[in-house]
Amino acid sequence: MAYLIQPDYVQYFCTCGQIKPITNLYFCRHCLKVRCGFCICHEVDSHYCANCLENMPSSEARLKKNRCSSCFDCPSCFHTLSTRATYAPARQDPAAGDAKVENKQPKKMYYLSCFNCRWTSRDVGIPDQPVASGGWPERTNPFANRFGQLLEYFKAIAQQEKQDKLDKERKKYAIRGKYITLTDKTGLTGAMARTTAGLPSSESSSSAIANFVPSQAKEEVEELPEDYHTKEVNLKLITTMPQRLASPEWQAQLVSRLQPIARPLSVKRSQRCRRCDHNLTKPEYNPGSIKFKIELLAYYHVPEVKIISFETIKPGCTTELLLKLTNPTAHEMQISIIQPDEVPEVEEKEEPKSIEKSLEKSLNLEKDTSWRQVIERKPLLPTTIKLHKPELSFTLAQRDDAAEYDDDSHHETNDIILWRKSNKLALRLKVTTDEEAKVGSPAVAILALQYSYRNTVPPTANSPQTRDHVLYTTVAIHLGTVTQ
Ligand SMILES: [Zn+2]
Ligand SMILES: [Zn+2]
Ligand SMILES: [Zn+2]
Ligand SMILES: [Zn+2]
Repeated sequence: MAYLIQPDYVQYFCTCGQIKPITNLYFCRHCLKVRCGFCICHEVDSHYCANCLENMPSSEARLKKNRCSSCFDCPSCFHTLSTRATYAPARQDPAAGDAKVENKQPKKMYYLSCFNCRWTSRDVGIPDQPVASGGWPERTNPFANRFGQLLEYFKAIAQQEKQDKLDKERKKYAIRGKYITLTDKTGLTGAMARTTAGLPSSESSSSAIANFVPSQAKEEVEELPEDYHTKEVNLKLITTMPQRLASPEWQAQLVSRLQPIARPLSVKRSQRCRRCDHNLTKPEYNPGSIKFKIELLAYYHVPEVKIISFETIKPGCTTELLLKLTNPTAHEMQISIIQPDEVPEVEEKEEPKSIEKSLEKSLNLEKDTSWRQVIERKPLLPTTIKLHKPELSFTLAQRDDAAEYDDDSHHETNDIILWRKSNKLALRLKVTTDEEAKVGSPAVAILALQYSYRNTVPPTANSPQTRDHVLYTTVAIHLGTVTQ
């Protein structure tokens, strides 16, 4: 838990160059590379309501505008609303007399109430409902029609642009004489391919563009009411900006116009390595479960580095740095501490394109690869602190949960390895700060680990994997600021 509240003093370099704490990183067992949120694909697995835990397929979620139909949030404080029951006062029938009224069962009626701010659906005149779940009056967006038109129009434009691009590509290949049409390869016609991809046909899209009426800017606008600047404002009656923006369709200005907000759905995501398309995480489908079917977190595969203590960093001084290393894997690890510039640069190979990929490409559905140019640059960190004695190799035992109960931790120790216990050990390293290091600048020591890794993925025909690998990871250790 400490990870959630502590600043990240130890950060790892992702393969893409970002630096992140180990808890934010993934490890692809197929590429044998560390991946971060930027260099993986995020996919929506399922939609569910975090309040009632109902899950639904994405088509239904889209239909419901990604909102739960039975849960509501308070429009005033955004806390979840609760359904409260009350007995409706029995209506007195003057002709029937008093005796008859007593025999009647009082009818249960329901309203919504916020336990946090005491807002209720009665405050704004929403009538109580006879059933506890759902059935709350739905308000239609006053601009629903216009939104529908705009949506159609932009869909049609996107479709047309795709078609143009496809035509252009087809021409380009036809000129080269190497063109094999998609239809020849897959037995799909263009129209079929479009239906498969969920795109409208080209005829309907051109008519949608032709029939569209663009919005017109008006020269004259309605004048403000005369007392606009003089009328006294009662802030209790006026909604705040967050309250207004919570329901963008209506943007109620008065508190009396607030309506319960249908609760937005949450999603379960699975994450995929962008290079090899293998899953890095995959949650269990059941929304009540917090477990994962696949969970390739760096925390389980990369040796963990923690700071035990360090001395004040001063320019031109050599200081001691105590670190704790942990081997999280089920196999013994051979670790060497090396200088960051000794890590060999490995170019990542592109995966060969398969037929599905070419289909994706023809339909223009291929993955966006522009992220590479944006993030593939190494962040500049001041390297004023140098490791003193980096030629250091040792083995670290595998993780053994039962070893937690062992009392004795008598292992061979020396000047550098202070103690060992099961899969952990403490290291005493010497770091030298540059003479020119500026006082007040952040003190960051960068070191690299070379470690042995045993891959447990069973080898397949496409990816013959050897079991044992030598991997590298670079770590930035934040040691406060340089002081005089
Ligand atoms: Zn991968
Ligand atoms: Zn990354
Ligand atoms: Zn719900
Ligand atoms: Zn509230």
